[in-house]
This record gives sequence, structure tokens and C-alpha cells, in this order.
Amino acid sequence: ALSIPAAVYMLQDHQLHAAELERTFIAIKPDGVQRGLIAEIISRFERKGFKLVAIKIVVPSKEFAEKHYYDLKERPFFNGLCDFLSSGPVIAMVWEGEGVIKYGRKLIGATDPQKSEPGTIRGDLAVVVGRNIIHGSDGPETAKDEIALWFTSSELVSYTSNAEKWIYG
Ligand code: ADP
Repeated sequence: ALSIPAAVYMLQDHQLHAAELERTFIAIKPDGVQRGLIAEIISRFERKGFKLVAIKIVVPSKEFAEKHYYDLKERPFFNGLCDFLSSGPVIAMVWEGEGVIKYGRKLIGATDPQKSEPGTIRGDLAVVVGRNIIHGSDGPETAKDEIALWFTSSELVSYTSNAEKWIYG
């Protein structure tokens, strides 16, 4: 059994980590869902040591897809992209962990799967840019906006994982 001072120390240690932890929005697009890659993709984030704090399956409306990709509204592929995102079920997730925004993008790989390194999700599992199976926030501001667009605050679950002390030391 822990002495009280040890328990207090652990609590403070965890709170220290909680303050450092960041969150990112990750979505498995309709192609990833239809191809049966949900578990494969989740597994890569989970095994890395990142923590899943929100998840749902949803078919976004076209209007919702347009909000999500608003920054790309001037691009020629915008309409097709929004049609595609709203064409079927999407797995929307929030992942938490030190450096998860930037490293999540590394796990995902380059936008064009032809340019993604082997070992990345798009490099290993996708072939063309219009069917690159996964979305990940590209920076802290985008992450904040996308999490707020896809989730209510009550859908975000804060919890301590027993693995954290082995992941962060
Ligand atoms: P990322 O998803 O890597 O952040 P972008 O934000 O630039 O990339 O683009 C968003 C999505 O738009 C891409 O993931 C891809 O599905 C699609 N896309 C990007 N460029 C093209 C293109 N040239 N043709 C068709 N679709 C594209």
C-alpha cells in the first residue's frame, strides 16, 4: 500500500503531465472505414503510446464536410473532397499525448500516398491523394478548431491510463 506522501507525489506528477499533454483530431475517412482499416489505424496510435479520449462513428453532412475543409474552399478538388467525406461513415477521434499533433502527422505520412514513406499509414495503406484514408490536424490552432467542430466538451473523456507511467516515466 502507498503511504500518503507517496500518493500525493503521484497525483502531482500526473497533474504535471496532464498540463503538458496536447490533443489532436484524427478521422478515418469513408475509404478507410469501407476498407476495414479502423482497427489497423487505431492500433498504430495506441501502440505508440497516445491515448484515445473521444471516438464516434458518424456520416457527416455535405455542409459539415465543407466546414471541416473550409480552408481548402478555393481549391479545385474542394467540392469532390466534401462529397467524398460526406459519402459514408467516418470514425472521428481525439488523441492525446506529448507531441501528438506533430507526431500524429508523422504516423499518417504525406498528403499524397505516392510521397508517403513506407511505415506511415498512408504509405503502407493508400495509393492516391483523393483516397488517402485518414485526416489529422496540422497544427495546434487547427486541432483546437477541429475538436470543437466534431465534439462537444462532454464527449471528451479525461482519464489516467495505467500505462502512462511506463510511457512517460
Ligand atoms: P492533409 O490531409 O494531409 O492535411 P490537405 O489539408 O492539403 O492535406 O488536403 C486535405 C485533403 O484533401 C487531403 O487529405 C486529400 O484527401 C485531399 N486532397 C489534397 N490535395 C488533393 C488533390 N490534389 N486532389 C484531390 N484531393 C486532394
